[in-house]
Amino acid sequence: MTIPRLQNFINGQSLANESGETIEVINPATGEVIYEIEVADEKVKSAAIESAQAGFKQWSAMTAMERSRILLKAVALLREKNDELASYEVLDTGKPMQEANCVDVVTGTDAIEFFANLAPTQVGQQQDLGGDFYYTRKEPLGICAGIGAWNYPIQIACWKSAPALAAGNAMIFKPSEETPRGAVELAKVFIEAGVPAGVFNVVLGAGDVGQWLTHHELIEKVSFTGEVGTGRKVMESAASTLKDVTMELGGKSPLIVFEDADISQSVSAAMLGNFYTQGEVCTNCTRVFVHESVYEQFISELVERTKNNIKAGDPQDLSVNFGAMISQKHQQLVMDYIAKGKEEGATVLTGGNTFSPAGAENGYFVEPTIFTDCTDDMTIVKEEIFGPVMSVLTFKDEEEVIRRANDTPLGLAAGLMTQNITRAHRVIHQLEAGICWINTWGASPAEMPVGGYKLSGIGRENGIEALNQYTQTKSVYMGMVELESPF
Ligand code: NDP
Repeated sequence: MTIPRLQNFINGQSLANESGETIEVINPATGEVIYEIEVADEKVKSAAIESAQAGFKQWSAMTAMERSRILLKAVALLREKNDELASYEVLDTGKPMQEANCVDVVTGTDAIEFFANLAPTQVGQQQDLGGDFYYTRKEPLGICAGIGAWNYPIQIACWKSAPALAAGNAMIFKPSEETPRGAVELAKVFIEAGVPAGVFNVVLGAGDVGQWLTHHELIEKVSFTGEVGTGRKVMESAASTLKDVTMELGGKSPLIVFEDADISQSVSAAMLGNFYTQGEVCTNCTRVFVHESVYEQFISELVERTKNNIKAGDPQDLSVNFGAMISQKHQQLVMDYIAKGKEEGATVLTGGNTFSPAGAENGYFVEPTIFTDCTDDMTIVKEEIFGPVMSVLTFKDEEEVIRRANDTPLGLAAGLMTQNITRAHRVIHQLEAGICWINTWGASPAEMPVGGYKLSGIGRENGIEALNQYTQTKSVYMGMVELESPF
């Protein structure tokens, strides 16, 4: 049987490589190879740069209103194709269709709509200087690179391309080699909508293709989503040509459940923030701090709902709400963390094993796992696991829990559950995290800036400020009087 091939998408079409090098893509829910990608070689890379240069010239010469109109056509097309695109995401990632069909494409598309509408509102300023005056122009940067992680492939491609393209830039995007299809499908949609060829190119391959982008002297900016360690390498490499960077990195986020919280709602937040997308979400609240006075009540509802309300299986089945780990390697990594948790003295209340659900017997599943008897210095409490592994900790008072919640080099997200509104704001203002939730968890609308404090990132995606990160200000000074010179 011949395996289908996915080629690099350059200058508005698929482009074959010359090297013949390919990488297999596996459906994590079945363990089967679903297609292979052609790795970007020298021919593909040069074509990507050349066409991005030409695309940028054409795209940046359009008015913001013209660009906006075209991007809004892409928005309409993405919404029409929602279920088809969601189904590709399910095949690539192993996540449940009941999530992909209402979150992944939807939230990606929302960002394109948001930035398309924002683009024509960008204005410079002008100031009189007593005869002379100056004005500023917001100009695009040029060719930007986007490099994506594997957990929300099409959403990440949309979140990065939306402000970049709205501001008039071209983008060369490298998806994760494990989930490359969404970005290519997005590129096709942009072409169908009327985005000029070369404005959004997709290069395929592993980390070395990403590294090539971060080095290239004609690329002005890198927007990266991935692990902290890779982010460091990307920044080091980008420094060689002084590129601007946006970094969306990992987290180890705290959720604090105070004694006056609605317990059922708190359990919902903790489960969403640990088991949604089978735990493969950067903002997950993997450290759940519960006030000791409500601990028993919280744990008993948490365990009961985890045991009874989670259904794994074929992720395309709409009743399934828990999918497979992205790869066998990642499944093993998560299992190694679980073993470490047990070894260091934490107690597994439920879960802790791999399993083979009916309908997806060969998939890379890990049970939703809850650890108690955790201490702040345990590996599972300190390191990002990126799987369905929750650590529950107890606390006595506010000052103590704030200190412990902040005792991490990461600072992506944080949240709390309480009915006391002054405490809610007092505490949230002291938490060292870029994305905070009160009495909820996980929502990330296009209007809201997202990004990390500390090692969790640099810059923001979404929200008005993200558009500025894809423009540069040109100041133009206009001399209105005779130029005085001592020479
Ligand atoms: P990685 O850091 O392993 O990879 C991210 C991307 O970078 C992939 O496309 C990868 O290619 C590429 N890459 C690898 N090495 C290099 C390099 N030297 N130079 C340039 N690019 C490179 O992350 P994962 O894909 O494993 O994603 C999981 C991580 O992403 C978690 O830490 C998670 O927290 C974080 N994340 C953060 C988000 C946020 O918004 N803050 C959102 C989603 C995830 P390839 O995979 O093909 O090797």
